[in-house]
Amino acid sequence: RTLEQVLADGIRDIPDYPQQGVMFKDITPLLADHSGFAQVVDALAAFGRDDDGNPVVDKVVGIEARGFILAAPVALALGAGFVPVRKKGKLPAATYEESYALEYGEATIEVHQDAFTPGDRVLVIDDVLATGGTVEACLRLIRRCKAEVVDTAVLLELSFLPGRKRLAGEQLRALMTV
Ligand code: 5GP
Repeated sequence: RTLEQVLADGIRDIPDYPQQGVMFKDITPLLADHSGFAQVVDALAAFGRDDDGNPVVDKVVGIEARGFILAAPVALALGAGFVPVRKKGKLPAATYEESYALEYGEATIEVHQDAFTPGDRVLVIDDVLATGGTVEACLRLIRRCKAEVVDTAVLLELSFLPGRKRLAGEQLRALMTV
């Protein structure tokens, strides 16, 4: 199967979740498909390699919660460390936090202050890029830690939302765009 087929088969639309009028992209069928999941992890890990296939990142960041599922196997594939970026209040040691606007209200994400060695090269992974607020805040967190963002990769980009525009100037990859 091509990567396109794997993604098309493995991501389903759930109407009115988490609220009326929202069409939620559910990736759980993809995760349950071993060969599809492996193909997706390989494709994401490729963004952390140079043209000769050598890894060029020190850390892979996963954004809570679905980003964790994808970023951890990518980190292992690249021989890199895994760093969780979490919703406020979940990380036990000293953190930096960044907030961003949601349609109603605000969200805050955090990272451990000592999660990176200064100068670490970082690949950021999440499942879906919607408005881009989550990734934008995540990049601010990484830079506060004096680490360098090499690339940001998502499974799925929702192009009817302004995520890519919001992240103009950033290296941003999507395995699939709708
Ligand atoms: P953003 O900050 O870009 O608006 O939203 C992205 C975040 O919300 C990501 O962490 C992603 O997991 C989650 N998200 C938003 N919409 C969807 C969706 O339709 N499907 C999935 N799986 N996640 C979504």
